[in-house]
Amino acid sequence: MENIKYVYLFNEGNASMKNLLGGKGANLAEMTNLGIPVPEGFTVSTEACTKYYKDGKVISEDVVEQIYEALNNLEEVTGKKLGSIENPLLVSVRSGARASMPGMMDTILNLGLNDEVVATLGKLTNNDRFAYDSYRRFIHMFSDVVMGMDKRKFEDILDEVKESVGAKFDTDLTASDLKEVVKRYKAAYKKEMREEFPQDPKVQLIESINAVFRSWDNPRAIIYRRLNDIPGEWGTAVNIQSMVFGNMGETSGTGVAFTRNPATGEKEMFGEYLINAQGEDVVAGIRTPQSISRLEEDLPECYKQFLQIADRLEKHYKDMQDMEFTIEQGKLYFLQTRNGKRTAQAALKIAVDLVEEGLINKEEAMLKVDPKQLDSLLHPNFDENGLENARVIAKGLPASPGAACGKVYFNAEDAKAHGELGEKVILVRAETSPEDIEGMVVAEGVLTVRGGMTSHAAVVARGMGRCCVVGCGDIKVNEDEKTFEVNGEIFKEGDYISLDGSTGFVYGDAIKTVEPEISGHFGIFMSWADEIRKLKVRTNADTPRDAAQAIKFGAEGIGLCRTEHMFFDEERIFAVREMIVAENENQRKRALEKLLPMQREDFASIYEAMEGRAVTIRLLDPPLHEFLPTEDEDIAELAKDLGITFQSLRFKIESLKEVNPMMGHRGCRLSISYPEIAEMQGRAIIEAAIDVNKRKGFNIVPEIMIPLIGDVKELEFVKNIIVKVANEVIKDSGVELQYKIGTMIEVPRAALTADEVAKEAEFFSFGTNDLTQMTFGFSRDDAGKFLNNYYDKKIYEADPFQKLDQNGVGKLMEMATKLGRQTRKDLKVGICGEHGGDPSSVEFAHKLGLEYVSCSPYRVPVARLAAAQAEVKNPRSTK
Ligand code: PEP
Ligand code: MG
Repeated sequence: MENIKYVYLFNEGNASMKNLLGGKGANLAEMTNLGIPVPEGFTVSTEACTKYYKDGKVISEDVVEQIYEALNNLEEVTGKKLGSIENPLLVSVRSGARASMPGMMDTILNLGLNDEVVATLGKLTNNDRFAYDSYRRFIHMFSDVVMGMDKRKFEDILDEVKESVGAKFDTDLTASDLKEVVKRYKAAYKKEMREEFPQDPKVQLIESINAVFRSWDNPRAIIYRRLNDIPGEWGTAVNIQSMVFGNMGETSGTGVAFTRNPATGEKEMFGEYLINAQGEDVVAGIRTPQSISRLEEDLPECYKQFLQIADRLEKHYKDMQDMEFTIEQGKLYFLQTRNGKRTAQAALKIAVDLVEEGLINKEEAMLKVDPKQLDSLLHPNFDENGLENARVIAKGLPASPGAACGKVYFNAEDAKAHGELGEKVILVRAETSPEDIEGMVVAEGVLTVRGGMTSHAAVVARGMGRCCVVGCGDIKVNEDEKTFEVNGEIFKEGDYISLDGSTGFVYGDAIKTVEPEISGHFGIFMSWADEIRKLKVRTNADTPRDAAQAIKFGAEGIGLCRTEHMFFDEERIFAVREMIVAENENQRKRALEKLLPMQREDFASIYEAMEGRAVTIRLLDPPLHEFLPTEDEDIAELAKDLGITFQSLRFKIESLKEVNPMMGHRGCRLSISYPEIAEMQGRAIIEAAIDVNKRKGFNIVPEIMIPLIGDVKELEFVKNIIVKVANEVIKDSGVELQYKIGTMIEVPRAALTADEVAKEAEFFSFGTNDLTQMTFGFSRDDAGKFLNNYYDKKIYEADPFQKLDQNGVGKLMEMATKLGRQTRKDLKVGICGEHGGDPSSVEFAHKLGLEYVSCSPYRVPVARLAAAQAEVKNPRSTK
């Protein structure tokens, strides 16, 4: 019989055991060892969770046994007993995965209460009101979280009782009102579940642990995991902790605080609390809490102690801490600490400040900022002119910065549906609920009526870099009618509003948004990233504008210039079409001659924008039919312009049609059929380089890239065309020019025969979009339609077109790099598929020893940081 330890007392763990105990469990253990006041408890490990799933969603006997053993121990140290009517132990049951997933999984508080224990609790505390308030909360949570009942049933009962006794707030209810609430809650439970509310605390406990394990796989947790690259196999731990009560009267309270401002990064205590309340009141945003600084007036001793411990925790963890605390009758307890989620601005400021304060070094600072978050820095602000006449209709709390403008929708489903249609959407909710996550993903911004800066919407929005305003009590939402009212004005579903997540202002009109300015901390931090990283970062750019933007973001060159985008230009498309319908080589050459000066001009302006940096230009790639119209009307018009008959043009278009164009007549295959195309492009690339070198004094060495080869002979064929024309042009010009010819590796056969390919290629660039397509046999265009089924069935957790499949496609890349360098020691290798801007794929490229990654301009900063992180985690020099 295996003898695995699944349950750990808090004093048996430490912060390094995150994988086993989850973040929360490991930190509770660490705080316990540091002597910080933490209520006693134990953690059921993540391995117990994986076992639970392996065993078919049951908690096995040996795990139950270990839980009971730890419970005995807890009863001994607290001197209390679960279910005792003399000195009852009450516990909380909370999830805690390796990575924090705020609000995504379940929590149960006040467990251990039943009809008898509640009476004892009332007597012991001399506070019946508190006892019954705790019991009604427990029944509500257990029924909702563990048994899956609709929580609105309980909210309705509470509202009914409040109304019948004229109570405005929950805190206005008396002990006997709360007894009535409990009675009605239990009746509701019995009616729906067809049994009494469970009175045996051990049953309550095991059922609750079961529910937390189960919640690891609830839909919102799955979505959150996919967004944050958290593998499903990690599982969650469960923390069972003896309860301390923030709802025991005016010297009790509970709150959440950050050691630095999570929106701006400012070094100031930032947080909120509620007197006489339990934790979920703060985070669920049901009551709007008070600023932490008020605690100094309410409970000065606690405040002092709180500040001391918070400071100690920050220094211990060397990072901004997000802490949950409870004060029970004047005594302070810490229930949780973790590295706090923060906006991108705050993350940069905190990382730079921590280095300047001497708490961490630059390498450690790299790991304090999530590369994906940098995206949000590049997000829009309001156009100043647009703002001048804008009408402020309300103000809420500025929970997550940025500006957003869109049409209002009142639930996640509608927001998602309209967002996916390409509408700009603002999600408006009465209060925040983690189920809204799907709507938040598609929304430009989120607005909620209730809730504080630490409510779920605020935390999640900040993590996503989504503009968010919460606690906006000025507006009244009618979710059934899908409207909101503010100052007598009604806004319907589909009406425009704008949000400023930095000020909390809500505007009643559509306001234009503009690109952001980047702060000083960004510059400092990114310069450290550049010092550290070994991988170069280039950009995929086809226009001088994109190239210039990418340079601003730190690109070191162009890794992919897709020339077809130039062909689509209004001025050129006609010549391109002439080339396609040409009946013979001569006609085709004539059309190409018209394109030559335009292409030369294109390349020259890109070289100029890149100011001498490396530029890789790829020859024409897509199938030709993409340049021709499909509608009869358009075909007729074009036929007239081209001076040919409708019939013959239609016939040409029909003949170019392919069943699977992605696998069809594209890439180098076009140049093999029509060498004139490669010749024209080669000439334009070389002539432009000579011209710009002369005019600007640069030393451009054009890199000419041949796409979609699968056999070295294809490469050789196209290369010979380029070499011939390039050498002619160079000779005629009378000046020196070096150039390189390389290839994309995007057909598996090219990867498999990379040693042969490298004989002809001076560089490789992995086209991981096509390489993924062809390795999986998934069409790039169609896979999106069915990949969702793969996620649902847990066959894949991530889209292989976004996050590189390291096991399969990655293996091909590894092989190709090795084989290629066997033939050509100094072979330069990079990536230019979409994966070039995905942090985990960048890390893979670093480990593989590639020279560079290339990605779209806005992802350049993401890739720079990801490359620095990769070097910190796996230094190349020590390999
Ligand atoms: C690729 O296939 O990864 C690539 C960069 O080329 P394209 O996306 O243009 O096919
Ligand atoms: Mg490709």
